[in-house]
Order: sequence, then structure tokens, then C-alpha cells
Amino acid sequence: MDFQLTQEQKLYAENARRMVERDIEPILRAHSPDRPLPKAELLRVYALFAREGLTAPRLPAAAGGSGMRMLDYGLIFEQLPPAIANSLMAHEATIARIYFGSNAEQRERFLPDALAGRKICCTATTEPDSGSDPRAIRTMAVERGGEFVIDGRKLWITNSTVSDLMLVTCSTGRDAKGGNLLRRVVVERAHSPYESREIEVLGLRQGHLGEILFENCRVPAANALGESGDATRILTLTWNVNRPLVGLIAVQLAQKALDAALRYAGVRVQFGGPIAGKQLIQERLADIATGVHAARLLCYHALSVVDAGGRANGPAAMAKRFATTECARAISLAMEVHGAMGIARETGLERLYRDVRMLPVPDATNEILTLIIGRELTGRAAF
Ligand SMILES: Cc1cc2nc3c(=O)[nH]c(=O)nc-3n(C[C@H](O)[C@H](O)[C@H](O)COP(=O)(O)OP(=O)(O)OC[C@H]3O[C@@H](n4cnc5c(N)ncnc54)[C@H](O)[C@@H]3O)c2cc1C
Repeated sequence: MDFQLTQEQKLYAENARRMVERDIEPILRAHSPDRPLPKAELLRVYALFAREGLTAPRLPAAAGGSGMRMLDYGLIFEQLPPAIANSLMAHEATIARIYFGSNAEQRERFLPDALAGRKICCTATTEPDSGSDPRAIRTMAVERGGEFVIDGRKLWITNSTVSDLMLVTCSTGRDAKGGNLLRRVVVERAHSPYESREIEVLGLRQGHLGEILFENCRVPAANALGESGDATRILTLTWNVNRPLVGLIAVQLAQKALDAALRYAGVRVQFGGPIAGKQLIQERLADIATGVHAARLLCYHALSVVDAGGRANGPAAMAKRFATTECARAISLAMEVHGAMGIARETGLERLYRDVRMLPVPDATNEILTLIIGRELTGRAAF
């Protein structure tokens, strides 16, 4: 076991940090922190990601991907601005979901523009009445005359309002035992238009989170991927990478809070000395630093389990659950170190606090992750 990053891994992270400072932060600063970034600007960022091989890290080089180790990708991902990281994850996970479980013709048709960052992708699974339990999905894809006709509503879909291509989890009917037959269908907006609207939310406000309505949306039958019934397996495959990646977004936010708390504690003087010299403030700082460090290690570990080809369901669930919980606590403690300054907009901590609050929900809530860990430990599903 070696807990040190290699020189190469340090370079990945350092280069990503530089790209963010030089190329991405100026774009974000030029727009409101409270409004979704205009699509043209997001496409500029995606072009950068495509150049760096970040739009398809999970695909082999032979398929146009960068074939990166997921731990190396995580080290880069941890440096990206949170709303942009969340958008990129939705995009690149959709690319992976299309790649795994499609035929050569479908890959040729859907992937090149997505890999090049010319088209923005998303995956739509959640619905108003189906969140944690995808078996309740009601969006129907009915095959009729060489086409699928899609009707239904999707909710809380990252990138949906700016998407060009959406991978939609649909029901195609019921199997002999009454189970919902879920199938993945690619909907290209230019050919099969769908309505979408942005939802105003608490955090990650430069990102896009929306609702979609499919009404008599006609899609070529050749856009259906894999088999009816394989949707959950492909989604699970990608969730085991997404979960530690979401954890690393939380880690980045909490690291910023730790840095701010250390700076402030060093300069804020009360009772004749800097508060950094007070024992209870040091306890706060110790709790924050330990939480951030442990969360980071759990996320790196889960990604390294994926790289080693091990069963990652438990480690990925632990990583996301622990990181989103501990990092939210760390940010809250950092606000306390700042006293009233902690809640002032100018210190930026309230934004970290709002952003981190978004993260326990996507790619499985903490309750569902708890049940996944429990199932891995006991072999019994308690959902
Ligand atoms: C920032 C963000 C991005 C997202 N991006 C996407 C996306 O790109 N694509 C997509 O399809 N979806 C996306 N979602 C939706 C997300 O996946 C769902 O919100 C999530 O799966 C939970 O579903 P729900 O909100 O309907 O909650 P529900 O499933 O209704 O759950 C409500 C509460 O009940 C709890 N609960 C549910 N079942 C159990 C149980 N068996 N035991 C104990 N507690 C239980 C939950 O943990 C939760 O606390 C996103 C959400 C957010 C916040």
C-alpha cells in the first residue's frame, strides 16, 4: 500500500488547477454566480475538456476515449469548479452509458460530437413519481412502425435544458412476472424535440438542473440501446464511479472552507491574541481537517477499487455518503470559526454551504447508500 501520489499524478492535478485558473474561472466570473451559464459559454468549457481527454475518460483510446485510470481522473476532477464538474460528470457518464451496451453503428452515430464537446449530453432517469426506486418509472417508449414514441416527464436532470442528446430510461412494458422492463433510448433534440425548463435551486447555480416533457416524441427504433431490462445494470456500472466523483466535489468545497478557516483564525484577534491560538478553535480546525482528509482518502480508495476491477458497490457508496456528510459538517464548522463573517456573502462560505447541500441527493441519497452498504455487509436487501 502506498499513500503517496506519483509525480505523474501530481502533475495531472497541477495542470488541471492551472487550466481552471487560466481558462475556466474567467468564464465563470464573467457571468452571474446565481444563474445557469449560457450554453455558448458551457460549450467553450467543453471544448477545453475535449482537448484534455476529459469528456470520455472511461472509454478506451481505440474508441476515441482517453482510457484513464479512474483515480487519475478523480485527481483532475477534484480541481474543477463544482457546477462545471457536476455538468461534466453528467455528460461523460452518459457517453460511457452509451458506449457500454450499444452497437458499432450507434456508437458511430452518437459519440463523435459528444466526445468533441460539440454536443452536450445528459441521462434522464428520475421522474416526479420515481426517484430512489427506478422500478416505478412511467415514461413509456412504445414501438410503432420503426419508431419509438416516448411520452412522460423527467425531473431533476443535470444539463437537460442545454442538452443536445439525452439518454432516457423508459419503460417498454412489463415482463411475465410483472416487472418493469426498462430500456435506454437516445433522444437527439435536433431530430426529436423535447421541452425542458430550468428549476431554481439552492446551490451549484451556474449549472443546469431541469424538468423535461416528452409528448408524442418520435425517435428512430435504432436509437434504443441494448436489451429491454438491461438499463439498471448499465446505470449501476457508472454509479460506482459517479459516487466517489460526487464525493470529490464535496471534498473540494470543504478544502476551500478549511483554507479559509485557517487564514481567518491566523488573523482574527480576540482576547488579546489570534483565535488560532485558542484550544476550542484548534478543535474545530482539527475536526475540519480530519473530515476532509478522510473523505478524500475514501473517494480515492473507491476509484482505485474500480481501477483494480474489484467490486466497488460498497466502497463507492461509503465514499459518497461519508464525503457529502463530513464535508457539509466541515463547511459548517468553518463558518463557526468565522463568527458572523461566516454568514456574510463576501467570504464565500455561504456559497460552499449551499453547494455542498446539493450533493447528498444525486446518484443515490444517503439513505439509499446506507442500504447499499448494509446489503454489501449482510447480503440482505432492505430497500
Ligand atoms: C444536483 C442533482 C443532480 C441530479 N441529476 C440527475 C440526473 O442527471 N439524472 C437523473 O435521472 N436524476 C438526477 N437527479 C435526481 C436524483 O437522482 C434523485 O433526486 C434521487 O435519486 C432521489 O430521488 P427523489 O428526489 O425522488 O427522492 P425520493 O426517492 O422520493 O426519496 C425521498 C426521501 O426518502 C428516502 N428514501 C427513499 N427510499 C427509501 C428507503 N427504501 N428507505 C429509506 N429511505 C428511503 C430518500 O433517501 C429521501 O430522503 C439529480 C438530483 C440532484 C439534486
